[in-house]
This record gives sequence, structure tokens and C-alpha cells, in this order.
Amino acid sequence: MGRSVLVTGGNRGIGLAIANAFAEQGDQVAVTYRSGKDGLPDTLLPVHCDVTDTASIDAAFTEAETAHGPIEVLVSNAGITDDGLLMRMSEDSFTSVVDANLTAAYRVAKRASRGMLKAKGGRMIFVSSVVGLSGSAGQVNYAASKSGLVGLTRSVARELGSRGITANVVAPGFVDTDMTRALGDKRRDEILGTIPLARYADVTEVASVVTWLGSPGAGYVTGAVIPVDGGLGMGH
Ligand code: NDP
Repeated sequence: MGRSVLVTGGNRGIGLAIANAFAEQGDQVAVTYRSGKDGLPDTLLPVHCDVTDTASIDAAFTEAETAHGPIEVLVSNAGITDDGLLMRMSEDSFTSVVDANLTAAYRVAKRASRGMLKAKGGRMIFVSSVVGLSGSAGQVNYAASKSGLVGLTRSVARELGSRGITANVVAPGFVDTDMTRALGDKRRDEILGTIPLARYADVTEVASVVTWLGSPGAGYVTGAVIPVDGGLGMGH
């Protein structure tokens, strides 16, 4: 479709699958990377960015916009975990996860809104998590950050809706990536028993929902929280 798309954390995992899916449909896609950009296909434009740093975000957007024009579709996907029980969780662990997952979403949304307001249109998609709605033992920091994305997104949807800008949340369950591989086999087996579809998602199954939210067919969808969780979060 030839639009200018930016995906944060697009160098691996879910973000890379989202970026590839947009590129496959003909969009011009920039992906932010922090650790490395090895092995990325030439269909993607890698731009260096640490989402905890406003100046770094501004530089990455400027680079992407110089190449592709103002960002029309923003996917705020970068995220981290730093699990631990509340009693043992340091304040630094709490604030750094909230900074990378939630404050960063505010930073990129604000930067993207500039061009979208001028263009009188745009799509913002925020990657949250099922645990943002259900809570999760050992993830007070992560769940708080992911839950905060819902309030952030719905406020953006209300503030910018009249300018043709939509904002939506995708809330994946367990997806096969480095993040979940770090959990180990025992935990994986326990988790599988709680998922109605009895398997982890493939990254492409999250990507297809995100590209749909960016498509003309989703033009009247805003402020929505769309679970992609194999039924794990039903009832929340
Ligand atoms: P990965 O751990 O595989 O990748 C994380 C991505 O975020 C990487 O691209 C990483 O970049 C980027 N990132 C992290 N911190 C920063 C930072 N400070 N600045 C810039 N980029 C950063 O994670 P997933 O692909 O599994 O997760 C992607 C998103 O989906 C996250 O928001 C996660 O919370 C969410 N999610 C994942 C689920 C899962 O089961 N995997 C389930 C529900 C939600 P770099 O390589 O440079 O570190």
C-alpha cells in the first residue's frame, strides 16, 4: 500500500514479524533496533533507537521520515520483562520496565502525532499483553506497564479521533519468541495447560492482526483492545 510504517523493536520477535507483514503488502517499513540489525531483510529500513531516550526516538523518526515520508502507521512494540515477586522487586526494576514499555509508548505516540495531525490521519497500534488485563504473579512491573497502555491508547483515541487518527491495542498471550523461550520448559508446560488452544502463538498470528488494524478495513475501529491469546484471557 506504500505507506510509511514504523515498528519499534522491529529487529526480532513479534516486531520483526509485524514489519515483514507490512512490507509484504507493499508498505515502506522502518524498524528500530537497539542491540543489532544483523540478518534483517533489505525490505526493511533499520533505524537505531533506544525507546527510553526521547532524543534517540526523535532521531529515528527523522531518519525514517527522510526516507519514507511522515509516519502513517506507528506500531509501538518494543518491550522488556524483568520478573520477580513484589517483595523482592527493586524500585529500579519497576521503573525501568514501566519506562521501556509504557513511557516509551507515550514518547513515540507524541512524536508520531505531529505528522499524523498534519496529515489528518494515521494509525497507532500498541502491543500490550494479556497480563495487562489479568495480572500475573511475578510481573507487577510488566503487568502495570501493559495495563497502562490501555488507558494511554483509549485517551489517544479520544483525543485524536476527530483528526482521523485511530489508536488500538493488541494484547497477545504467549508467543514463541526470545521473551517466552527464557521461561524454560517446565514453565512452558504449565502455561500450555491454561491456554484453550493449547499452544503458543506464532509471531505471524500477532502480525496479521496488527496489519489488519492498519488496513482500510479497520478504519472505524479505535480504542479497541484485541486479544490474540488463544483464549487465555477470556473473561478479563
Ligand atoms: P523480544 O524480547 O523477542 O524482543 C523485544 C524487542 O523490544 C526487541 O526488538 C528489542 O530490541 C526491543 N526493545 C526492548 N527494549 C528496548 C529499548 N529500550 N529501546 C528499543 N528497543 C527495545 O520480545 P517479543 O517479540 O516477544 O515482544 C514484543 C512485544 O510483545 C513486547 O512489548 C512484549 O511485551 C509483547 N508481548 C510478548 C509476548 C510473548 O509471549 N512473547 C506476549 C505478550 C506481549 P533489542 O533487540 O535491540 O533489544
